[in-house]
Amino acid sequence: MANIGFVGVGNMGSGMAANLVKAGHTVIAFDLNEDALLKAIENGCVRASSAGDCIEGSDALITMLPSGVHVRAVYEKEVFKWAKTGMLLMDCSTIDVKTARDVSAQAVGHKLLMVDAPVSGGVTAADAGTLTFMVGGSAESFAMADPILTKMGKAVIHAGDAGAGQAAKICNNMLLAITMIGTCEAFVLAEKLGLNQQTFFDISSKASGQNWSMTSYCPVPGPVPASPANRAYEGGFASALMLKDLKLAMDAAQSVGATVPLGAQSEALYQMFAGLGGAGKDFSAIIHLLSGAWQKPA
Ligand code: NAD
Repeated sequence: MANIGFVGVGNMGSGMAANLVKAGHTVIAFDLNEDALLKAIENGCVRASSAGDCIEGSDALITMLPSGVHVRAVYEKEVFKWAKTGMLLMDCSTIDVKTARDVSAQAVGHKLLMVDAPVSGGVTAADAGTLTFMVGGSAESFAMADPILTKMGKAVIHAGDAGAGQAAKICNNMLLAITMIGTCEAFVLAEKLGLNQQTFFDISSKASGQNWSMTSYCPVPGPVPASPANRAYEGGFASALMLKDLKLAMDAAQSVGATVPLGAQSEALYQMFAGLGGAGKDFSAIIHLLSGAWQKPA
């Protein structure tokens, strides 16, 4: 079993690191946030006093950080200074494709193996070890990363070369935002036309409007008991994180000249929703903005 360094044991990293410990790995954890680090220690991780300390004693490294600036800083200031030749680096954060490719190219220059491996599935999947990993990197890097990532997920998919994992992640989440908004609009219109929400669900979930946002994550309470709509839209995938991913998708689309009008409209709607106090609510709560029922918190 390997010694695995883990930088960033926040909401997502906490459960991921714990699952590596359960699988028998020694996980050497570091986080700037003392509370996050203490939780990791409680879950069986070994405490590192700095990112360098965490990297120096490890055979492989996982990073789970908020955004591209954090990833670039940790890799350029710490990882490339301390990592041993041939070390495997796995960045599981959701970041922009350009930074993922830049950092990966630098890793190759330092004779290190690197994958970008962002995840689908929120904190519940991170805790349960049922994440889906979308992996970008060389075949050699993927072959080394696969058995480690498998300990934290239900699916590990090689998307292509460096940056391909991030590309898959932001395209998937742009599609998710679009289908969620479309599903919300349909429920709002159905209700205004006098249809019962459960009845509309029973019909549309078996007709051509069927999609994941409806059948697994229904934005109205009732039809899908596990969806955040049944618990006041708390927990789940915050609208602020959806907005972050949509901004990454819009930047990426602009950089390659792709036409994404529905993605752009979705970004504008989530921006508006966040500005009206919905940032912390699950992303399906945008149904209240569309129905006109949303009230900005005092
Ligand atoms: P988080 O803010 O809870 O955790 C990030 C951790 O990184 C924090 O504990 C922070 O203190 C730490 N950190 C920041 N800079 C650091 C540094 N220089 N050195 C050490 N530690 C540092 O965020 P999260 O919800 O765990 O999300 C992490 C990543 O996963 C993000 O990129 C997010 O977009 C992505 N993601 C999140 C979810 C979700 O539902 N939360 C789902 C899928 C993907």
